[in-house]
Amino acid sequence: MSVKFDVIVIGGGPAGYVAAIRAAQLGFKTACVEKWVNIDKDGVKVPALGGTCLNVGCIPSKALLESSMHYTHAKDDLAKHGVKVGGVGIDIAQMIGRKDEIVSQLTGGIAQLFKANKIEWIQGSGKLYADKKVEVTKHNKDVILFEAEHIILATGSIPIDISAAPVDHERIIDSSDALSLQEIPKRLGVIGAGVIGLEMASVWARLGTEVILFEAMDDFLASADSAISKDALRHFKKQGLDIRLGARVTSSSVSKKDVTVTVQDASGEQQFKFDRLLVAVGRIPVTENIADAAANLLMDGQRVHVTGDCSTNIPGVWAIGDLVRGPMLAHKGSEEGVAVAERIAGQYAHVNYDVIPWVIYTHPEIAWVGKTEQTCRQEGLEIKTGSFPFAASGRAKAMGATEGLVKIIADARTDKLLGVHIVGANASELIHEAVVAMEFGASSEDLARIMHAHPTLAEALHEAALAVDKRAIHIVNK
Ligand code: FAD
Ligand code: AMP
Repeated sequence: MSVKFDVIVIGGGPAGYVAAIRAAQLGFKTACVEKWVNIDKDGVKVPALGGTCLNVGCIPSKALLESSMHYTHAKDDLAKHGVKVGGVGIDIAQMIGRKDEIVSQLTGGIAQLFKANKIEWIQGSGKLYADKKVEVTKHNKDVILFEAEHIILATGSIPIDISAAPVDHERIIDSSDALSLQEIPKRLGVIGAGVIGLEMASVWARLGTEVILFEAMDDFLASADSAISKDALRHFKKQGLDIRLGARVTSSSVSKKDVTVTVQDASGEQQFKFDRLLVAVGRIPVTENIADAAANLLMDGQRVHVTGDCSTNIPGVWAIGDLVRGPMLAHKGSEEGVAVAERIAGQYAHVNYDVIPWVIYTHPEIAWVGKTEQTCRQEGLEIKTGSFPFAASGRAKAMGATEGLVKIIADARTDKLLGVHIVGANASELIHEAVVAMEFGASSEDLARIMHAHPTLAEALHEAALAVDKRAIHIVNK
């Protein structure tokens, strides 16, 4: 006899744990199968909820970005404010320890929420079988069979490994390793100048590492609006990040003390030596061993096939998060989790895939929502745009954060907002004004007529909206 639940979620990352909490709130008897185990500072194995995001993704990366930014401020910026500090140094053990503490508090918090919502956390590895059965192999290798009316697959993703640089977790590392280095590398090579590569490169470059990023594509951050990626690249280069575009890593060889990388670019083949090489070429969904062949789970290439509402080809089986189509972002997975739980409860639920905020937590930050100018042009949309530089913002000047700009794209005919793009301080927070506006179908005129407090960085959004109709106040309209 198998133990029966209303809802079983396989995977306890931001997609899965959120789905489980919402399902429990809706009155379902819910379980979440999660296999993640961390090793604490005493070498003890600690099972953890929260998935990639809380353990080795969003949260620890932001903790290290914050610490390394404080170091940069203390070393380079405070003197400009007349603040004198001497003997600025960095204690890596303290910095990594702080990050680990944050992770442990947050993952522990999810476990508390599970308890409070009476969600059973089944610790082990889950596999879908036919007839909505889930087999769990526990950490002690015991195998238990469960069944449920509804099963939500949320097994997430892992870093892609490439044969040109196989990860050995010593010299050639992945993003999880880069979040736990015990000493500052002298020279760090990064393969891939995407979101994760840039964030990790920023952390270590701020602490004094000489970093070179190799990006196979000729365009920098091709999915961002080109005005934004162009401006961001300028700032990153000024900070000393050496970003080589059109540079493909083709092989590598590891010795006891370093790693040699062969790179192919327009000028031919070159070799570089690093003490560490970070592979940050993207992530791949975890689909291996999640379903028995007899369950007949349909795939779309590397991802589990779902329709618009996240249902798979098997009635009562759903899939959400990094495992399915769409951007690999924590908040996208969480929204799908909520929506699926509500659909199971017979409620109407909606995820607006056209209004997903994207953020890159570099300095300056990059954030956008909606379409880029390139996409609008490819789709043949007639558009008008307005931009405003932070250099013309009083608040940005007072903060010493004048890098970057806001760019607004609106439909030329209806004025409806199509995309909002920001590179600058606090872009990660500022973007949400645009997210709300776009969710409510606002026009650029709507943003332009909303009063914004002075002096704030948000005024740059207001001015960019005014600039769409060439009536920005604090720049000369062209
Ligand atoms: P995951 O978080 O990967 O969780 C899946 C869980 O399923 C894991 O805990 C895994 O152990 C478990 N699992 C897998 N197979 C099984 C099985 N068979 N049985 C039981 N359990 C299983 N996104 C953002 O939105 N913002 C950011 O700032 C951001 N920063 C990032 C920084 C880094 C360095 C990385 C690596 C990623 C970052 N991401 C960020 C991406 C984000 O982490 C993912 O999009 C998000 O975690 C996906 O959520 P998920 O629940 O689908 O999968
Ligand atoms: P992202 O998808 O944002 O994680 O970015 C990963 C980046 O890695 C992409 O921009 C790829 O073009 C890049 N990339 C993949 N393989 C290689 C390689 N062998 N050498 C250099 N860059 C690569």
